[in-house]
Amino acid sequence: MKKASGTIVVSNGQLFDGTGADAVPDGCLIVTDGVITYAGPKVGAPDAAADARQIDAGDGTIMPGLVEAHFHPTYFNVAALEDLDIKYPVEYVTILASVNAKLALECGYTAARSGGSLFNIDFWLKQGIDDDLIAGPRLASSGREICGVGGLMDWNPDFRRIGMEGLVLLINGPDEARSAVRKLVKDGVEWVKTYPTGDAAAPDVNDHHTLCMTFDEMHAVVNTAHNHAMKVTGHCRATEGIKNALLAGYDALEHGTFMDSETLDLLLERDVPVVPALFFEKASIEAGPDFDMPQSVIDGHQETLDGGAESARMILKAGGRLGMGGDYGFAWNPHGDYAKELSFFVDFVGFTPQETLMCATKTGAEIMGRGDELGTLETGKLGDFLIVHGDVISNIAILQDRSKLSVFQAGVLKIDNLKTE
Ligand SMILES: [Zn+2]
Repeated sequence: MKKASGTIVVSNGQLFDGTGADAVPDGCLIVTDGVITYAGPKVGAPDAAADARQIDAGDGTIMPGLVEAHFHPTYFNVAALEDLDIKYPVEYVTILASVNAKLALECGYTAARSGGSLFNIDFWLKQGIDDDLIAGPRLASSGREICGVGGLMDWNPDFRRIGMEGLVLLINGPDEARSAVRKLVKDGVEWVKTYPTGDAAAPDVNDHHTLCMTFDEMHAVVNTAHNHAMKVTGHCRATEGIKNALLAGYDALEHGTFMDSETLDLLLERDVPVVPALFFEKASIEAGPDFDMPQSVIDGHQETLDGGAESARMILKAGGRLGMGGDYGFAWNPHGDYAKELSFFVDFVGFTPQETLMCATKTGAEIMGRGDELGTLETGKLGDFLIVHGDVISNIAILQDRSKLSVFQAGVLKIDNLKTE
């Protein structure tokens, strides 16, 4: 991705740098050739070059670009899970994914980690974004997801004679787990997404208490992935699935819904980040009846919402790390709504806006493995930042309004809603 050339000086706004420090009321951000050279109070900022471009933040907020830590660009706002891999051919899903990537950038998300992809679209999407062919967040790619046969993602009944190859690699036993990871090695992805447990969204035999992979399968995935310098994450709701993932050496957990004190200790010991994705549950409960979800599924979402919120509070209080990502891409939880997750954490889970924003910036960048380049406004990091026309700390919901955001990547103004009057 190209970096800007020259110097920009952004001032006349509060500066929230994402490091955990309080916002600076009258801040200044200087970016030279795409890299931050100063972030701090305006008083004390170095003199910029005479030809520097001055940008007025309009008495708003200057902050790091957001990181969507559980992003599915290839999920095209489906109303039924099975639509994911049979409604459209891969060619059309690729186009939809590129539209979703652009939308995420417009929403202030300058980086994202994929939570699983149809075919190998996310890898090539990342390539297109890095090459400046299309607009989108800097991506950490995942590929096809791995799940045990008969598990959450194995939903096509045999009589339909439809495989799941485009979306999921179904495995039986550690040998097949290794072979699935080796397919992903050739695809070039960074993250291996697995399904240790079921989910409330699946009625009947794969609810959130079900295990969909054995410990031996998970351990085989981790050993093979780490051997090839790939990281492993998993959809973990049931306590036993979380424990298996932590003992098997997972690098992150998705959801981490039903933590107990033993799994919390394991998590903290290894400092494994968790991406709860809670607004998805709330949206499912609210919209469920309109989408003919059975009451048992809606009740299951309520259970995972309550359990997930409690676990998130436990993890944050104990000093653990949480990323903000929302599993967007379902009809009731569509792309574009990403920042609803942040409001939800403030309004319903009980996080402060500062805690929530740090999860959505600094921790997100760490999960991507790029904490030294992205996620905070500090000297030496890339100039990926937002100008928000309003006070994000007192009203985090303002991030849901795209018209209030101007978005920069490496100092390049990508989405321009600057007030120039
Ligand atoms: Zn997901």
